[in-house]
Amino acid sequence: MEKGKGAKKISGTREWAVAEINCSLGCPHDCRYCYASYDAIRKNRITPAQWTTCRVLENVGGREHQLYDGQVMFPSAHDIVPENLDRCIQILTSLLDAGNRVLIVSKPHLDCILKICSAFDTVKDKILFRFTITARDDAILGFWEPGAPAYKERVSCLEYAAEKGFATSVSVEPMLDTGDVVAMVRELLPYISHSIWLGKMNKISTRVLADSDQMKEEIERITREQDDVTIMHLYQQLDSLEKIRWKESIKEVIGLELAQDSGLDI
Ligand code: SF4
Repeated sequence: MEKGKGAKKISGTREWAVAEINCSLGCPHDCRYCYASYDAIRKNRITPAQWTTCRVLENVGGREHQLYDGQVMFPSAHDIVPENLDRCIQILTSLLDAGNRVLIVSKPHLDCILKICSAFDTVKDKILFRFTITARDDAILGFWEPGAPAYKERVSCLEYAAEKGFATSVSVEPMLDTGDVVAMVRELLPYISHSIWLGKMNKISTRVLADSDQMKEEIERITREQDDVTIMHLYQQLDSLEKIRWKESIKEVIGLELAQDSGLDI
């Protein structure tokens, strides 16, 4: 179907959820491409130095008790880390008590996932985990996501959640090592029941600070590895897999129809 002139452009987290809930400001994962930190700093809510400390926001109650008319994403502007885990479990409890379907998105810490799986074992049918695994190479992860768990820990979380009977999915957005994506997808697929989303790094020139020679080289590498020819080749290799989903940034390159409604997660 051709995209109509007045059609809504559904992008970013709206491809996955009708609403996003957060309960913290700042994130020790400190990803260099982080939109949440870019946005919070731009709005003077926080300084770059403050961003790496997770501050729990106690005054965001109320909203989370609402029943939304579609999948709700938690969190979207920070991560679930040991520092805010108790508050995250409170928020998840409220969302689930209200009957919501919740998409839990995280670069996961095993301790946190063990506790979340234990706390919500009886309502697992309302939860979909989406673990962000952007590369297998820990040198690349350590550069771009310096405070986040290593590859092995993220995979352990995926294996554990799957073994406990939770629905599982993975987000490879942004792809930090495009040349290894096909092999990584094949390695992760046995633990994924729902989907694996692939997406480009968006708005690199505005959101990523080229503050060192290494950073400049990395930005050039990422830009090169997500050019249209490479993306098309990736699409040809993976599109036949049933669980593969393409984010808007890739759909636009391939010429696929964009989502017409938010929260469809397809
Ligand atoms: S984990 Fe998410 S919120 Fe935290 S720094 Fe990385 S991109 Fe930002």
